[in-house]
Amino acid sequence: MESPIDREMLMEQTKAQLARAWKMFRSTQEPTLGERFWLGFLGTGGNPEAVVGQVPATGGFLLRFGPAFFALDPGPGALPRALERGWPLGDLHGVLISHRHLDHVGGAAAVIEAMCRAMYVRRGYLIAHHTLLEEQVIDQFHQGRDGATAYPGGPDVIAMKPGDQAEVAGVQIAALKAYHGGPNLGYRFHYKGRSLAYTSDTNLITSFWNGQRTVRFGDPVRLIERCEDITGIRDDLIGALAGVEVIIANVTSHMAWWQRHLTDFGVVALLRAVHPKLCILTHFNRASVVPNDLRQQMAAFCAQESGVPVLAAYDGASFDLEDTFS
Ligand SMILES: [Zn+2]
Repeated sequence: MESPIDREMLMEQTKAQLARAWKMFRSTQEPTLGERFWLGFLGTGGNPEAVVGQVPATGGFLLRFGPAFFALDPGPGALPRALERGWPLGDLHGVLISHRHLDHVGGAAAVIEAMCRAMYVRRGYLIAHHTLLEEQVIDQFHQGRDGATAYPGGPDVIAMKPGDQAEVAGVQIAALKAYHGGPNLGYRFHYKGRSLAYTSDTNLITSFWNGQRTVRFGDPVRLIERCEDITGIRDDLIGALAGVEVIIANVTSHMAWWQRHLTDFGVVALLRAVHPKLCILTHFNRASVVPNDLRQQMAAFCAQESGVPVLAAYDGASFDLEDTFS
């Protein structure tokens, strides 16, 4: 039996609901955010195991830095995690991407759509290594460059290479080199004398003594075991991070994958050289968390070996940085 159709109601309700959705998602109003120093982690996972298993989740993090609000490396899951937490991506001033690996860029398109109010408003910046833009790792539409579309919104694009600088919402952003096997960037932020840096995925250790010989790149030795065995680190990265107050470090693992990632040992070498006020570890491989969550131990190891306060981030955690900067 067919159900009776209320044609008038269907027409009227659809009209009303369209207007409601339009108002909700296509607002052109700019937020008044004030100044704040805050971090919110949409995810703390790194590497394909974290993408596939979502333990830890992959979403990157949100950064309130003075007057500006940024999303960094939004991996798959960034948007649903932000909705769960009630963190307003429509207020973002910029989305920053370090490199093309899915755990860093897989959620970027959705976060850009949120920043650009369902792609109806031209606002915000997409900042990325220039090769990601040229090769459309982020497609033309989400770069705000698809003129033929019915959606008039989108971000402005800032193409970066190491050493480049930009200013967004009054905050200086510098692109740093990152050694991860392909085009990649760390980012350093400055505002009114305050500074924070994000390492992205990078190695730092270039050689170490394994008890018998010096291990260098290309050597099959995969594990590093003692801080005192490190014989070489990347001085250019240390120089680029000199004087920075807060470091967000993509650690990945306690001691494995040192040729592509910091590891705890690289973090210790970095902190001993730079002496920031605070370091927060993120980008954990699943093996750092399952079955035993080793993150607190990893942070304690880095803190004890370096003398710098070190915290481990976890999915959904937020950190108020006001005290750190005051
Ligand atoms: Zn990567």
